[in-house]
Amino acid sequence: MGFGARWRDWIWWCISTARFSILINGVPVGFFSNTKGLRQGDPLSPYLFVLGLEVFSILVRRAVEGGFLSGCCLRGRGGGEMMVTHLLFADDTIIFCEAKKEQVTKLSWILAWFEASSGLRINLAKSALIPVGEVVEVEEMAVELGCKVGSLPTVYLGLPLGAHHKATSMWDGVEERMRRRLAQWKRHYISKGGRITLIKSTLASMPTYHLSLFRMPKNVAKRLERIQRDFLWGGGNLEKKVHLINWEVVCTHKEKGDYKNGKYIYIYIYQTKIETLNKALLGKWIWRFASDRDILWKKVIGTKYGKKGFGWRTKESRGTYGVGVWKEILKEANWCWENLMFKVGKGTRVSFWTDHWCGNTALSLMFPQLFALSVQRNATVKDVWDSSLGQGGWNLIFSRDFNDWELDLIGDLLILLRGFRTSSEEDSVFWKEGNHGTFRVKDAFRLLDAPNVTAFPVKCIWVDKVPTKVAFFAWEASWGKILTLDRLQKRGWQLANCCFLCGCIEENVNHILVHCTVVRTLWDIVLALVGVQWVFPETVKEVLWSWRGSFVGRKRKRIWNSILLCIFWTVWKERNRLAFRGGHLDIQKLKNSFVCNLWSWARVYMGEETSSLLDFLEWLAAP
Ligand SMILES: [Zn+2]
Repeated sequence: MGFGARWRDWIWWCISTARFSILINGVPVGFFSNTKGLRQGDPLSPYLFVLGLEVFSILVRRAVEGGFLSGCCLRGRGGGEMMVTHLLFADDTIIFCEAKKEQVTKLSWILAWFEASSGLRINLAKSALIPVGEVVEVEEMAVELGCKVGSLPTVYLGLPLGAHHKATSMWDGVEERMRRRLAQWKRHYISKGGRITLIKSTLASMPTYHLSLFRMPKNVAKRLERIQRDFLWGGGNLEKKVHLINWEVVCTHKEKGDYKNGKYIYIYIYQTKIETLNKALLGKWIWRFASDRDILWKKVIGTKYGKKGFGWRTKESRGTYGVGVWKEILKEANWCWENLMFKVGKGTRVSFWTDHWCGNTALSLMFPQLFALSVQRNATVKDVWDSSLGQGGWNLIFSRDFNDWELDLIGDLLILLRGFRTSSEEDSVFWKEGNHGTFRVKDAFRLLDAPNVTAFPVKCIWVDKVPTKVAFFAWEASWGKILTLDRLQKRGWQLANCCFLCGCIEENVNHILVHCTVVRTLWDIVLALVGVQWVFPETVKEVLWSWRGSFVGRKRKRIWNSILLCIFWTVWKERNRLAFRGGHLDIQKLKNSFVCNLWSWARVYMGEETSSLLDFLEWLAAP
């Protein structure tokens, strides 16, 4: 294969000097050498394996060239053909050949030669001969090779192969894994904040491997969302717990943007709707088809479907033609292309009038009158660019001279084209949104998950460094969904409604968090510290809206929003203590625990400045 002697010596040294030891009763005993072998976990091993398989590749290619093997021939719509003989990925290998005994015999020779020349052994027990369609004498052929007979559908690289793409059965495994995960956690008591984190981190990421290639059927998506939803709200299939908030509301992602720094931080309180994620993941293939170089998968799809225009995309699938997987992916083409733009290099693969490469959309749409008059409607950018004109310039040809009122249009077009020119680079595509220029699933998701129009004090709730469970509580409260006595009454519970803290007014969410006289003592502490008077709004949501704190100065603003959440949280915990454990209210203790809570969150921001509680209060009060 053309490797130098020195390189071969190095590799030989690596594989011939490994020494092994055996653990006997947990104690390593002695060392022995071997002639060939790598140390366990040696990073060289996958590379050597790939090099070894290169030999195999060459053997197969030679056999095909000599007519001994025939591979799998793909016939495209446009009459194009393409031969695929084998696929190698890591240690998974697929070889295609015709279902004839002679071919299988030849294949078994190739395998034998490969074993002999490389010293690698093929594990026939893990290999299978899979017939596609009607195949006679498949058993005999399997005996010839020495492996067993498999059948479609099967699994390749963890993904289903040969199953109908709409079959719900291929999602059973995904659902099963998710349920199993859930069952492990259900035994433990986990707070809402913890649950959200778990859903975000694990449950949500589990099906993405499947979702990145296949469209999940609607009923499967519904079932999976149900599992996650039940988990979040602490219910199971058997437990009939109330879901406090409509799921649609939970799914709406809450964003918190730091626009000034051009940096966006997204907090998803729950991962999101699976369907939208699925669309974003499938869309990535549209992007990859346009932006990847000519690699195997792209060649196969391109041959099968035929390419459109300058080869950035495939033709649409028509009728029953083509395979389901790519057909489903093509359904995402429209929104993807609406967000793609061309970056002109040589200009040979971009249409001057009809592709979007400058301005806000294609030039034919921006200047329809000029497009109608153009004689070069199908011209590429390169065709229109004339490099013989000094530094180069645009050479637009129209079917007639312009009227005076049309000259402005020409002027506008030329102004737009100023700054563009062809170069020696290849033409390429880029993603319009975001700063990266490349497709990112996260950006695509945000695009598809159209922003919810409901006005909502997002910024005040999803505050950095505040525990998720606290933010979640404030969020529930602002929707009026915490279980206060008035809500329990509405649900038909027979009980007297009397505030646990002040003992004189009926309890509802606005009273217990804002208006109760006991709670006001906490508000007073804060307002006194910063020296302001505040007219309290009626509802929790309005409080969140108007808690702007523009008067506290930049230094303290960072913790300003957490103050609000801290009051809510401290009060609600105290209220629950009184409600469920009984006992007396100690206002001084309540004040202390509020200040201590706040201090513990604020320390994250402030570091050394506030090593004691007293320092902290001074820091808070200082102008
Ligand atoms: Zn009260």
